[in-house]
Amino acid sequence: MTDPYEVRFTFFWYNDREIFFDTEEEIGAKMKKTADQGITHLITFSCTHFRWSYRPWWEQINECLAKIVKAAHTYGLKVIEHHSSELASYPDTPEHLERLRKYLLDHGSSLETWSGLVEYLTGPDSPALKWPQIHEKTGKPNITAYAATNRCYNNPEYIREYLEYLESIYATGVDGIMTDDVQFYCQCRCEACRYLFKEKYGHTLPSPEKWDEWFGDMRDPAFIDWLHFRFDSIQNFHNQIKTHYNRLGLQLLRPNYISLAITRDWTASSVETVPDLHWFFQECARACVLRYSWLKSLSEEKHRAMVAGQRGIPHGILFYAYDRDQLIFSWGTAMLSGGFYINTPEGGGCELDETQVRSFEKKHAGILFHIDEMPEVGFLDSRDNRFFSPGYEMSRMEFWMQSCIVHNLPCAMLNADLPESWKTCRILCLNELNVLSEKQIDDLKEYANDGGILMISGLPGNQNEKYLERSLKECETLWGFHLTASDEKSYEIFPFGKGKICLCGKFFGYPGPEEEIQAVFGKNHLDFRFGKMPFEFLKSTPFVCANTIRSEKSAVRSNIGSLYEGIRDIGKQVCALMEQLLGDGCFFHAALPELVLAAPYRSRREDSITIRLLNAGDTLTPPGNGVEISHDDPIPFPEWQGENGLITVRLPDTMKNVGHVDFLSLEKIPQPLPFERNVDKLTMHLPSGLLKDFGMIYIR
Ligand SMILES: [Zn+2]
Repeated sequence: MTDPYEVRFTFFWYNDREIFFDTEEEIGAKMKKTADQGITHLITFSCTHFRWSYRPWWEQINECLAKIVKAAHTYGLKVIEHHSSELASYPDTPEHLERLRKYLLDHGSSLETWSGLVEYLTGPDSPALKWPQIHEKTGKPNITAYAATNRCYNNPEYIREYLEYLESIYATGVDGIMTDDVQFYCQCRCEACRYLFKEKYGHTLPSPEKWDEWFGDMRDPAFIDWLHFRFDSIQNFHNQIKTHYNRLGLQLLRPNYISLAITRDWTASSVETVPDLHWFFQECARACVLRYSWLKSLSEEKHRAMVAGQRGIPHGILFYAYDRDQLIFSWGTAMLSGGFYINTPEGGGCELDETQVRSFEKKHAGILFHIDEMPEVGFLDSRDNRFFSPGYEMSRMEFWMQSCIVHNLPCAMLNADLPESWKTCRILCLNELNVLSEKQIDDLKEYANDGGILMISGLPGNQNEKYLERSLKECETLWGFHLTASDEKSYEIFPFGKGKICLCGKFFGYPGPEEEIQAVFGKNHLDFRFGKMPFEFLKSTPFVCANTIRSEKSAVRSNIGSLYEGIRDIGKQVCALMEQLLGDGCFFHAALPELVLAAPYRSRREDSITIRLLNAGDTLTPPGNGVEISHDDPIPFPEWQGENGLITVRLPDTMKNVGHVDFLSLEKIPQPLPFERNVDKLTMHLPSGLLKDFGMIYIR
């Protein structure tokens, strides 16, 4: 297998043109064009993404796939087939039919291409009505926002037929498989689910009339078991896919993505559990208006980086750029995150020429991708807390992370179960981290005892590892100190062993109006039903993105400007407190214009540090009337005027003899930068005007 860090992905679309008309030579020409740009791996995408809808055409689709594989291999490209493992369109109403029609039109196809499709999908043999997820209350097949139904992962007939279909795909010679949409779009109460839940956990699912009363009560062990059951079902599905291809003697490439992880996903999607996961990346489907959503992408990417780091694989971001400035900006965002880059203009082919960025990547792969993060601040993530605590939505974590990103304070997300990974950071933030075992609390106390700083918001450990409630008194007994800051609007710092504890008041470090914070934080979070927390402002603040469909370029209303002000102003107070706690030990400092972003990384291949720089200036101030945003708003890349930038980095022991500091960019030849070395501190001057879009300081 190629070194996974050297792999460059793109999506290859096969729509009407490729399926019905292209000759082998024409497909070959597309492959050549892709390979020439520096791409090594293709992930397929098709107008037939909802694959079950096109069952009568499977043979034809596979013929096309075989042609793609053959041509791709000629040019040294690997192919990973990607489709929805379970969605089937259900055009039972004029609106649902319109949705299907539009989807096909947006993806190089049309209803007319697929003669008899609508009749098939609405007829008695409709795949949309086979093995469906059953809506918890209507008792009927659930119809999602995609105007489609879903197969249920617990239905053995579906699994059997799907595995059989996969065998036909493997026979085309693909190098990998990406099974998309492994999610519960409803609280499925199909026969298989009801039977298995009873068999595995001993509970009977409530009747539709009693559903609302039962659903969401986190003090009811049967409900918690139900949440587990859904995750287990999905994990089990992923395991069955792997076991099946391994049994066939295949070792397939497995990239996979998730759209949102740290904004709670209600569908029990759990792609981080995919066995054999070789690349893990973010799909910016809900953060697609690049100019405004990069901050959301960057904070979400902290999660992908953490998961990838644990598994020793690369992480990346998939964007939907369709013009050159968007390409450079989104690529720069990926480089800033330390991840790899994928782009696909939705529905189209490799229309944008990526040669320039791919050549830069190739030239600097050792320092761009074979790297370690250099975080000052760690944010403790717990999958248990994300999945099983009703209070997860109130967490300040993402807002604080975004504050660090905007104010250039290097940060990382760290796993609450891996204390050895915490040592890279001198501050650990525990934001509304409700679920903690006694062992985890002991580990955290040991971290502080050894000199670490714990910044605490909320009541850490108010649920044990079985998600049962602990009282304030029980928590304080376990921690050995009081947990409520004496000042609600500020914070309180006290020593703990060789380290420190910083308790943040409930109004500190969140820009919401007082009455909203009071409504959420003034109540025990377990009293809210799962998924029913009133947190509009708290939720939208870190959610700096626009929820428009990526293929629609229309303008939408947005409060992005005021959301950004919160991050800029309140976030600054949070970062100032972190810097105060770090004191002289602070290893990275960047004095740069507003929204010129900087992130340092250390190469694993050589003794060097890179500082990636992205000019995101003015992006979060909407143009025009200031309340509407659109895909078409240009990336501003404002000219940097005024004072020179100043960046200070503390050098690791092995790098005390730094001799070269260069500024690298896409267009210019490397340019030496003036610097001063003072014992272990290196200060670099960045002349104003040097950085246009993306740049990288290379220290060696
Ligand atoms: Zn089911």
